[in-house]
Amino acid sequence: MFVDIAKIHLKAGKGGDGAVSFHREKYVAAGGPDGGDGGKGGDIIFKADSNLSTLADFRYKRKYTADSGENGGTSRRTGKSAGDLVISVPVGTLVKDAETGRIIADISDENGVVIAKGGNGGWGNQHFATSTRQIPRFAKSGALGEELDVTLELKLLADVGLIGFPNVGKSTLVSVVSQAKPKIANYHFTTRTPVLGVVSMGEGSSFVMADIPGLIEGAGEGVGLGHEFLRHVERCRMLLHVLDISGSEGRDPIDDFEKINKELEVFSSELCDRPQIVVANKCDLIDEEEIEKYRKYFEEKGYSFFPIMAAIAEGTDVLVNHIASELAKLPPIKIFEAEPKPIEEAPKNIRTFTIREENDIYYVENCDWLMEVMNNVDPDDYESLQYFERVIRECGIIDALEKAGIGEGDTVNILDIEFDFVN
Ligand code: GDP
Ligand code: MG
Repeated sequence: MFVDIAKIHLKAGKGGDGAVSFHREKYVAAGGPDGGDGGKGGDIIFKADSNLSTLADFRYKRKYTADSGENGGTSRRTGKSAGDLVISVPVGTLVKDAETGRIIADISDENGVVIAKGGNGGWGNQHFATSTRQIPRFAKSGALGEELDVTLELKLLADVGLIGFPNVGKSTLVSVVSQAKPKIANYHFTTRTPVLGVVSMGEGSSFVMADIPGLIEGAGEGVGLGHEFLRHVERCRMLLHVLDISGSEGRDPIDDFEKINKELEVFSSELCDRPQIVVANKCDLIDEEEIEKYRKYFEEKGYSFFPIMAAIAEGTDVLVNHIASELAKLPPIKIFEAEPKPIEEAPKNIRTFTIREENDIYYVENCDWLMEVMNNVDPDDYESLQYFERVIRECGIIDALEKAGIGEGDTVNILDIEFDFVN
């Protein structure tokens, strides 16, 4: 079954925790702190694989978790960083934030894109020794990896998309102008999976043609097969509107043409405005005079008109040459830009916290908003520590600690990080 949309859950790896340890050696009474840092958690990376054509794999596996970094060790040993989790998707897959619909990335080339970042490793206590605090009994925990739900949406990358009623000869056309071998049969809806055919023009130039399942009336409103496939012609630079000009199934070709365009309009007016070429197939079944009558009709409406017999590749060379010269004038295939992530800043009024004292340790709790700040503090960097101090002073934590009776040198514990109170 063809699956071109999926929703999955991603959880990048947690960073390893920093270690608390002290240098030990025979005859050395108290060595310095030597707890190593935690390793980085694994990222979740999306990469395009041209051998894939559907998102079917994501029907069965919906949760993806990258490994955590190793914890730091003694003797300044840094924990091993986790490997990244690479998820392969078909070329042209859009990754969107499931909650907001924001486009995170368009996976359309060979470059991998990090969709969920692994957490950094926590600092070991080797970093926390200062002149006033020689025995740091704390280290930082590794940061959590990013966690989010994403929707995957496949939007094929093709220069030319074929549209038209079922059975008009779209698959036949692709099969004679390219190496692609779509299913061809004299009944409706033989094409259930879009097929991409590369049409070579010699001298290294080529374009890609997409054969998608036939549209039927009401497809634009989601009736029956078709609607879901319209998404695949969205990026096409040009549309070939294939008609059974002989009306061999009892329908009128002009009627077909209008109906399909109406469906396109309902789905997307932008798509409807894409350049269209009219391809009149099955010319073997009607006489010249009638073909010319149709030519007149479509050319008067401003379309170029190409009578062909797809089954015997008659007229297809002229058509292909025309497509190539038209494509040369058109902008390249649309690649969706990633939309920027909104900046989230904890508003001042939710900078809450509580203080609890136990065994001479002052715990600052219920302050999840501080996590972000803490994760970015580099204990080796003076300015960074100053910043941290400013934040906890501004939000009133220092005042509150003093009110609770803290004294110089007492231990403060904020989100599992401990330090000596110095004011
Ligand atoms: P699709 O549903 O639009 O992809 O149509 P297909 O390519 O599967 O073709 C449907 C039927 O039309 C098949 O039986 C083809 O053999 C037939 N067909 C395709 N091109 C021609 C043509 O030029 N002349 C005639 N008479 N039949 C054709
Ligand atoms: Mg077909």
